[in-house]
Amino acid sequence: MPLHTKVDETHGTAELDINPFCSVVEHGVPRHQIPSQAMPPEVALQLVRDELMLDGNARLNLATFVTTWMEPQAELLMSECFSKNMIDKDEYPQTAELERRCVNILAHLWHAPTAPDSESAATGCSTTGSSEACMLGGLALLWRWRARQAAAKTSAQRPNLVMGANVQVCWEKFCRYWQVEPRLVPMEPGRLHLTGQPAAARCDENTIGVVAVLGSTMDGSYEPVAEIAAALDDLERRTGLDIPVHVDGASGGFVAPFLAPDLEWDFRVPRVASINTSGHKFGLVYPGVGWIVWRDAAALPDDLIFRVNYLGGEMPTFALNFSRPGAQVAAQYYNFLRLGFDGYREIQLTCQRVATYLAREIAAMGPFELLSDGTDLPVLAFRLTDPQSAGYSVFDLSERLRLRGWLVPAYTFPENMQDTAVLRIVVRNGFSTDMADLLLADLRAQVAALKAAPHRPIPLLPEGQRQAFAH
Ligand SMILES: *Cc1c(COP(=O)(O)O)cnc(C)c1O
Repeated sequence: MPLHTKVDETHGTAELDINPFCSVVEHGVPRHQIPSQAMPPEVALQLVRDELMLDGNARLNLATFVTTWMEPQAELLMSECFSKNMIDKDEYPQTAELERRCVNILAHLWHAPTAPDSESAATGCSTTGSSEACMLGGLALLWRWRARQAAAKTSAQRPNLVMGANVQVCWEKFCRYWQVEPRLVPMEPGRLHLTGQPAAARCDENTIGVVAVLGSTMDGSYEPVAEIAAALDDLERRTGLDIPVHVDGASGGFVAPFLAPDLEWDFRVPRVASINTSGHKFGLVYPGVGWIVWRDAAALPDDLIFRVNYLGGEMPTFALNFSRPGAQVAAQYYNFLRLGFDGYREIQLTCQRVATYLAREIAAMGPFELLSDGTDLPVLAFRLTDPQSAGYSVFDLSERLRLRGWLVPAYTFPENMQDTAVLRIVVRNGFSTDMADLLLADLRAQVAALKAAPHRPIPLLPEGQRQAFAH
C-alpha cells in the first residue's frame, strides 16, 4: 500500500465541507483527525460516496487483471460472510472446509501427483493474493536450500533466486525482505520472458530456485515451464545441482487448465515444486484471495508451519497474516460450483476470443506492431512500429483514451529494452466484443487526431505522472 504521511492542519484543508441539507451535523468535521462527535449514518455514507466519485469506472479499466464484476448471488454470499475471520478455524469450521476443498480442486486441476499416503500428499492454502502466496513459495524454497546447505556443511549466507526481468514486483519484494539476491535474466528483442538456457546459466549452488511465470504481466505470454525444467535437468546431469521450480501462475493458473489442457506447465513437470495463483484474477473472485499448492510434503519444510487450535485439535497453517476475511474463500468455492470446468472454460475462451479479435484489428490499423496477441493469457501488448517518425507516443495515446474513460496503460519494458514503450490491454470477464468495438473506434479516432497534429502533441498530464503505471 502507498505509504502515507501525517498532515498537520496548518498545511492542509482543515475541514470537510458539509452540504446544508445535512444540517444535522453542526460540529466541524476535520479531514485528518477523528471528528469529536458522531454523525448520522446516512450523512457519513453520502460523504464517503461523494469522495469516491472520482474513482475510475472499473469496467473500462483494461489495466488490471483483478476481478471487477461478480454475480449478485456471489455478492450476497460474500456479504453474509464479511464477518467471518479465516483464522478462527474453530469458530468457522465450514469456512475452513471450503478452503480445503478449493485447495483440492486446484491440486487436481494442476495435476498434483497421487501420494502413497496423506502424510506426503500435496498441500496448499489460501492467501490474500498471489503476492502473499509468492512470499510463502519463496520461503519454502529458501528453507529447503538452507537445509541442503546445512546437510552438505556449506555456507548458507548468499542465497539467490533466478527469474526473468519481467517478473511481477512481488518477487523483488520477496528478495529484498528476505535478503535473497535476485538474479534477473534480462529481456532481449524477440525474447520477452525467461527461457531454459539463460535460466540454467545463472544457477549455482546458492540458487534456491527458479521462478517461471505463467502469464507475464508485461505481455501476457507464458514462460516455457517444461523447457526451463529440461534445462535444469540438464544442469543437474552436468553438475549435480538439483534446483526446484516455482510457477507463478497468478493469472495463468486459472487460464491454462481450461484453454491449454495439453500444455505441461504444472505438476506434470516433475521439477515444479509449487504453484501459486490469484483467485481474484482469472479465478473470478473480488480482490482478497490467492492460492498456493506444494507438490508434496517434502516441498514445504515443517519449520514454516504453525499449528492453530481447531475443534479441540490442531490445524497446520502457513501465512504472513493472522486475521483475514473469509468471504473471498466462500466466493471462490461458489464460483467452482456455479461454473464448473465448462463454465470457467467458456468464460476464459470468450476473453481469449475478444483479445485475439482486438489483436487482429489493432495489427490491421497500420501504425502498430503486436508483441503478444492474446493467445496465451487474454492480454495483448503492442507498440508503435516506428515511434520516431510517428510524432506521438503510446503515452499520448494512453492519455487520450483516458478522456473517454478507458484505462489502457502505457509503459516501457525493463532494463535492456527500455526503449520499447507499449500499450497493454487485459481482457477480463464482461469485456464484450461490443465494448471492444467501441474501444477500437476510439483508438482509431485518437490515432487519426494525433496523426493530423502538425507537431508533437502537448502532454495532457505533467511528465512525472505519465509513467505512473506499475504492474
Ligand atoms: C498479479 C500478479 C502477482 C501479484 O498478485 P496479487 O494477487 O495482486 O498479489 C504476482 N505475479 C504475477 C505474474 C501477477 O500477474
